[in-house]
Amino acid sequence: MVGHERPLRVLRRSLGSGRVPHAYLFWGPDGVGKTRVAREVARALLCGEAGALARGEGCGACRSCRRLDSSNHPDLHVLVPRGARVGVEEVRALQESLSFRPFEGGRRVAIISDAFRLTREASNALLKTLEEPPADTHLVLTAHHRDQLLPTVVSRCQCVRFDPLPDGAVERILVSEGVEPHHAQALARVCGGRPGRVLGREPGELMEWIRQAEELADRWDGLTAGERLRLGAEWARAQDLRDRLETLQWVVGRRIRRLDEAVPAWLDRQAGLARVLEWMDRNVNTQLALDALFLGLAGQDWEDRWLGS
Ligand SMILES: [Zn+2]
Repeated sequence: MVGHERPLRVLRRSLGSGRVPHAYLFWGPDGVGKTRVAREVARALLCGEAGALARGEGCGACRSCRRLDSSNHPDLHVLVPRGARVGVEEVRALQESLSFRPFEGGRRVAIISDAFRLTREASNALLKTLEEPPADTHLVLTAHHRDQLLPTVVSRCQCVRFDPLPDGAVERILVSEGVEPHHAQALARVCGGRPGRVLGREPGELMEWIRQAEELADRWDGLTAGERLRLGAEWARAQDLRDRLETLQWVVGRRIRRLDEAVPAWLDRQAGLARVLEWMDRNVNTQLALDALFLGLAGQDWEDRWLGS
């Protein structure tokens, strides 16, 4: 594993202690590698080799590790949100599969990615499993922030914080995943310490987003109201909107660092981008949020005036 030395140290200690918690909460920004580390924890817990837990990592060679690597382990349950919200039925389905004995007779692990997408009802259902977990069952929840989850859920988890990785570590991960070195260096700088933003995508597509974001930043001051609204409509339809906004956020942040003095318009854009990204987790009307962003209506009272929340 490249990077995440501190969380890995915490986890190795926790796994090696002989008293593995029934639930972990990995929290930190999107794409930083929480799910990647969750799978490593699953590997250590499910590994058939005796010393795996004490070492805090799977052997990589036994039947269990090999099945995990091919995403084909009957005792690893992964709940990935299909939509913006995860309903109570999805949690119940997971609970039902956890009600049987583990197939391999050992432990069992369930990973719930982006647990902040659980509805309140779904969270309350999950709480039952956290309060009385089935024997030899371990859950790993991931979220951007701890405070996105019910306090009663958080209090039953061992919380592990994940920070963005240094650019050098991101670059090494990207190269190890097959990204060409000359692209890896440029992309490591733009992904804000979160290799997951790049992996699984076409590097050329990301380079194109950077180019478009730079072009928008150049023209932003001089855009007419009509052009701003067209931009809002265009971006609202874009696939991978979050990634495009985050790319723009990086470009805007870099402009601000290069300015000799603070320019309110740029600071508003930076604040506006952060808010739009936050709203996207909360299912706010994207079109409205983008219009406000591009029209430069990002005053302090922006949220109250435009979204009534
Ligand atoms: Zn193994």
